[in-house]
Amino acid sequence: MPTTLIRGARLLGYAGTPDLLMRDGRIAAIGADLAVPPDAERIEAGGSLVLPGLVDAHAHLDKTLWGTPWHPNQAGPTLRDKIDHERAVLKQLGLSPEQQSARILRRMVACGTTHCRTHVDIGPDIGLKHFHGVLAMREAHREVMDLQIVAFPQTGVMVSPGTLDLLEQAVREGAEVLGGLDPMGIDHDPKGQLDGLFAIADRHGVELDIHLHDRGELGAVSFEMIAERTRALGLKGRVAVSHAFCLGQLEPQRLEKMIALLLDNDIAIMSHAPSGPTPFPPLRLLHQRGVRLFTGSDGVRDTWSPLNNGDMLERAYLIAYRSGFRDDAGIELALHMATFGGAKVMGLRDYGLQVGNVADLVIVEGETAAEAVVFHPARLWVFKRGRIVARDGRAVLSEAQLTL
Ligand SMILES: [Zn+2]
Repeated sequence: MPTTLIRGARLLGYAGTPDLLMRDGRIAAIGADLAVPPDAERIEAGGSLVLPGLVDAHAHLDKTLWGTPWHPNQAGPTLRDKIDHERAVLKQLGLSPEQQSARILRRMVACGTTHCRTHVDIGPDIGLKHFHGVLAMREAHREVMDLQIVAFPQTGVMVSPGTLDLLEQAVREGAEVLGGLDPMGIDHDPKGQLDGLFAIADRHGVELDIHLHDRGELGAVSFEMIAERTRALGLKGRVAVSHAFCLGQLEPQRLEKMIALLLDNDIAIMSHAPSGPTPFPPLRLLHQRGVRLFTGSDGVRDTWSPLNNGDMLERAYLIAYRSGFRDDAGIELALHMATFGGAKVMGLRDYGLQVGNVADLVIVEGETAAEAVVFHPARLWVFKRGRIVARDGRAVLSEAQLTL
């Protein structure tokens, strides 16, 4: 384990430019003019900014087309169109989920992401093939990324018989989180899907993270049904809803009811501020009320959209841009979603720039967090457990990892 002293950097949350010492994979000391241990490597940061490692808490690593020729987006307009189109393209290309997830993971490491929650497709057409591929990739990359896997029913649950059994098998084999997908819009059977998912979560003690694209009242009623089951099974604080477009469409009184449900059950909300004109939740209002927020890349260069690219500082910028945040507090909220918000939902302990915490951090040019978000410059150094895993925007990986 290397010992490294960073000199002359601004540390997020600290005044001035204190030294930061990393030893045995942890932040060993922060302070002015620390003594340089004889075995330490020194990094002169020249006024750059140290941020905690970025957290991409909503990704789809298994089905990216990253590393293959540019794929013009030809998906139809509806969610069902996009799902069916994706199945057809992935079947035709025959890519390896293990190799594809490794390819995009390297890109994420280069961008300063140190933790990731990825939804992995599971369904009767592909069984657990994608899940097993990502499990193998995770093992090969455990020194560079902490990865949490969501068993995700991309093709629906009740409309794809056999999916519940496959999801439960994935949980038995190590998926930490159980996913879901539009209980109404895709399954037309919200009771069936949610009762099935919550029963598995209850049996195995796993958390839930449900994709909810359904708009307006369809989404709002889904929230009520999710909250009802969260309460009944004592899962407060263990359920997240991703996208939650409907929260950006409700009348004020109805929205207040939704916020009360979210707070009562401590349900976290993921938004990646989708490309317009898709609605998305009023993030500052939710944050001010105390709703936990987090974000992620969602699918990167896949058949759904070519617009996401796996850079979580750019993601924070897009959240600020689409939300109309022009003040530093708003921009910092966007960065919070890509750091501490994601860390909380992933249950990370020892995260952040405090002495004793794990030395997962990224160094960028910039004076303040807001400046780093707006310009999202190249990452100068990325450290994972005190080891350099990326330098000047490129991942530094072992030969074994590079063969994937
Ligand atoms: Zn997603």
